[in-house]
Amino acid sequence: MKKIIIAIDGHSSCGKSTMAKDLAKEIGYVYVDTGAMYRAVTLYALRNGYISHNDGVALIDESALQADINASKISISFKFNPETGRPDTYLNGEKVETEIRQMEVSSNVSPIAALPFVRTLLTQQQQEMGKEKGIVMDGRDIGTAVFPNAELKIFVTASSKVRAQRRYDELMGKAKTQEEKDALNYDEILKNVEERDYIDSHRETAPLKQAEDAVVLDNSNMTIAEQKEWLLKLTQDRVSALA
Ligand code: C5P
Repeated sequence: MKKIIIAIDGHSSCGKSTMAKDLAKEIGYVYVDTGAMYRAVTLYALRNGYISHNDGVALIDESALQADINASKISISFKFNPETGRPDTYLNGEKVETEIRQMEVSSNVSPIAALPFVRTLLTQQQQEMGKEKGIVMDGRDIGTAVFPNAELKIFVTASSKVRAQRRYDELMGKAKTQEEKDALNYDEILKNVEERDYIDSHRETAPLKQAEDAVVLDNSNMTIAEQKEWLLKLTQDRVSALA
C-alpha cells in the first residue's frame, strides 16, 4: 500500500491530536504532534528566564533564545510510551510531557511560535521526520508550510466555547489533587484558546489558515468515535485513489 503524508491542521484544542494519534495507530503510521515541539521550546525559554511579562504582554529575550538555538542547545525528541499508546515529548533528554501541557506554557507558546527562527528550526525537523512518508502530523501549518504537497490535508475546527470546555474537561481529568482542580478556570481557558487562535492566525510567518485543498471538518457536534470513523474512511478512499 502506498504510504502518504497526512496533514491535520486547525484551531487550538479542537481534538486534532486525538484524531491524528488514533488514525496513525489504526493504519500503522508515525504520529507527530508539532504543537508539543513549540511547547517544548516555550518550556525551555521559561526555564531559562527568556520570557518576562509587562502588563500581561509577553516580552521575549529573542537574541538569547536564538543564540541557544544556534548553539544547538535545544533538542526535542519523541519516545513511544506503551502505557499511554502515544509518544512522550523529551526536551534535552528529559521527559516533559506533563510540564508542556500546563497553563503557563499554553499562555506563552503562541508568541514563541510566531518567531521566524523558531519556526525555521522546527519546520526543518518536521520535514526530516516525514521524509519516508507514512506519517500523520498535526499542527497549524503542516498542510500550508511544512508539507504543502501532502497527499491528504484536513482542517479541523469547532466553536471556541466547545473547544474550551473540552480542554477544561481534559485538564480536570488529569488533575491529581483538589488544589489542582480548584485552580482550573473555564473562563481563563476560553480566553487562552481565543488568544492563541488570534495570534496563530495573524502572525507573519506560516499563519494558521486552511490550505486550499484541505478537507474541512467542523467537529462541534461529533463524538470522538464519529470523527475517527470519518477520518479513517477519508484516508482509505484517498490512498485507494492514489494507488
Ligand atoms: O497543538 P497545540 O495546541 O499543542 O499547539 C500549541 C501552540 O503551538 C499553538 O497555539 C501554536 O501557537 C503553536 N503551533 C504552531 N504551529 C504548529 C503547531 C503548533 O504555531 N505546527
